Amino acid sequence: MTSLTNKTTAQLRQIATNWLAGLDKLLEGKNYSAVADMILEDGYWRDLLTFRWRFENFHGRREIETWLSQVAGASPVYGFRIEGDPFPGAIGEYSETLEFFFEFETALANGRGFVRLVKDHGSWEHPKAFTLLTSVRELKAFPEVTARNRYREDLRVATSHAKNWQDRRNASRLFEDNDPDVMVVGGGQAGLMMAARLGQLDIKTLVVEKTDRIGDIWRNRYHALRLHNEICMNHFAYIPFPDSWPVYIPKDKLANWMEFYSESMELNVWNKTTVLGGEYDSSRKKWTMRLRMPDGKTRVMHPANIVMAMGVSGLPNIPRLEGRDDFAGEILHSSGPVDDLDVKDKSVLVVGAGTSAHDIAQNFHLRGARVTMLQRSPITVVSLEPSSLRPYELYRRNDGIRPIYDTDMMAASVPYSLLAKLHRPMSHQMAEDDKELLDGLRKVGFLLDNGEDDTGYFLKLLRYQAGYYLNIGASDLIVAGEIKLKSGVGIRHLTEKQVIFSDDSSLDADIVVLATGYRPLQDSVRAMFGDDVADRVGPIWGIGEDGEACGIYAETGQEGFYVTGGGIPGARAYSRYTALLIKAALEGLRLPRVTHSDAPAVSKQAATCQRDAVPEPATPPVS
Ligand SMILES: Cc1cc2nc3c(=O)[nH]c(=O)nc-3n(C[C@H](O)[C@H](O)[C@H](O)COP(=O)(O)OP(=O)(O)OC[C@H]3O[C@@H](n4cnc5c(N)ncnc54)[C@H](O)[C@@H]3O)c2cc1C
Repeated sequence: MTSLTNKTTAQLRQIATNWLAGLDKLLEGKNYSAVADMILEDGYWRDLLTFRWRFENFHGRREIETWLSQVAGASPVYGFRIEGDPFPGAIGEYSETLEFFFEFETALANGRGFVRLVKDHGSWEHPKAFTLLTSVRELKAFPEVTARNRYREDLRVATSHAKNWQDRRNASRLFEDNDPDVMVVGGGQAGLMMAARLGQLDIKTLVVEKTDRIGDIWRNRYHALRLHNEICMNHFAYIPFPDSWPVYIPKDKLANWMEFYSESMELNVWNKTTVLGGEYDSSRKKWTMRLRMPDGKTRVMHPANIVMAMGVSGLPNIPRLEGRDDFAGEILHSSGPVDDLDVKDKSVLVVGAGTSAHDIAQNFHLRGARVTMLQRSPITVVSLEPSSLRPYELYRRNDGIRPIYDTDMMAASVPYSLLAKLHRPMSHQMAEDDKELLDGLRKVGFLLDNGEDDTGYFLKLLRYQAGYYLNIGASDLIVAGEIKLKSGVGIRHLTEKQVIFSDDSSLDADIVVLATGYRPLQDSVRAMFGDDVADRVGPIWGIGEDGEACGIYAETGQEGFYVTGGGIPGARAYSRYTALLIKAALEGLRLPRVTHSDAPAVSKQAATCQRDAVPEPATPPVS
């Protein structure tokens, strides 16, 4: 029994079943030391909500045993059974793994797990787990209104005046004399998927979106934009994109899909409506939310929960520029109306070297501007193909073969700390593949790095959503000198027609675009909900010392306040758990971890998070 090759499906199943039966038995017997022994010394157990309504992960026998001793007695898990057939795989240094999904139960929930077994002492006789994921799939008493739990209506016509589906749908959108249980602030992809998840749990939900039309957040982005990741990882929850769609989805196609999705999932979205802010009343367990309605009037609503889905960027980060008032040209932030500028034959300085800076520089160059990019700090650059594809090879491999929920679970079973380990060699491979491009960039003085812990762009994306560029063409223009580069310096001051740099060189400029990033999202919470709420919520994004994302998807330190956002895969996968957390709280199945009255300023988890979750890697110093 030394290799999985040549084993029959029945034999693979036997190995998997034996291991799972062992786990079941030892957990039932509360023999946590022996449970921990079923996992490699270098193994990981990640749990999403099963034991204490948290996202948590543990590494190594000792951590796992200690954790189980604390949590498993109070929240027993049982009824482990394998789901489908096990299959061979590979991860990191393990070239042969046996992987399978399984189901289990708790008193309140049906759970789902995924495990990667590896052989122990060279044999498959008694394999051990390298990664183990357990998660809540559904609340037993409140399954999703989906598939076999669809609504079934009486087809007989009771009276000719009975309300039909359209009547009820129209009424549910209005919230005329009632409040939603959940208000989702922002109707981008994350807000819409969140609302869809909540709707399937029969939770009254309102999405408030300030733009005129669902999808405008994408329509209003630059003309040539297509999604930067392949379609295989960008499916929306419940409704995958049609097979006929292209690999890279054009922005307007995605925008129209969002409109279709909202209608199809029967979401209640109020457009042209802005959430101004709110306060929480801990005794009533309700928010008082102020909304600016399309007619300019203010409406006040009282939902029990808020999900902030306002995007990954907070308020624009605008550096102080000496001599700004003397400058005769235009200065604007990248979040401003850059597409409306007449840039032909103009000299433009793009301050910053992140994705927005590159996109704007490329776009302006195409529109006939003379563009110079100002880079202060190094970033990571990777080619779109092959390098940017590597981190989501799992999704590419499984596209059309496995349901996206399965792939999401396989991805979620790798905690961030392990992901970082795996990405070190992967990022080196990327640098090797992109050697020509990177050498070209170095030659013109472009500053490159590979992340704070040598793990490349993907960990930067997960940690900060910033500090990297996937080359859709701007890097080639920089290498070719079509976009000029000024690196390693800052802006000393501006004169009427010039930008003077910290090395005393200068540039004649008509326009300065500040692609200088955004302030941390916590600042937006502060602006809308005040200091108390912002301090309780804590930093958003970044990875905390507990190895989980800070302040997003999971419970925050503020009762009734959740955050969603980020790339489509994260928003899709983790909205499932946010919705379950909210449902469990609404149905009284769980208490909030930190209540309003006894809350310390920052919850324990948030306290371990990095302070500046969204760094501005390309912000120039103003000297
Ligand atoms: C060029 C480019 C390519 C990308 N490619 C990919 C890709 O391939 N795959 C991927 O997953 N991601 C990609 N992304 C990232 C993507 O933009 C973000 O992941 C996504 O837009 C974040 O979605 P969101 O719903 O969190 O926020 P947003 O899309 O920013 O939506 C937030 C919404 O909140 C609304 N809002 C804000 N404040 C308020 C308020 N006070 N009241 C009411 N409404 C408010 C806004 O109008 C907006 O509609 C790409 C981004 C760019 C720029």
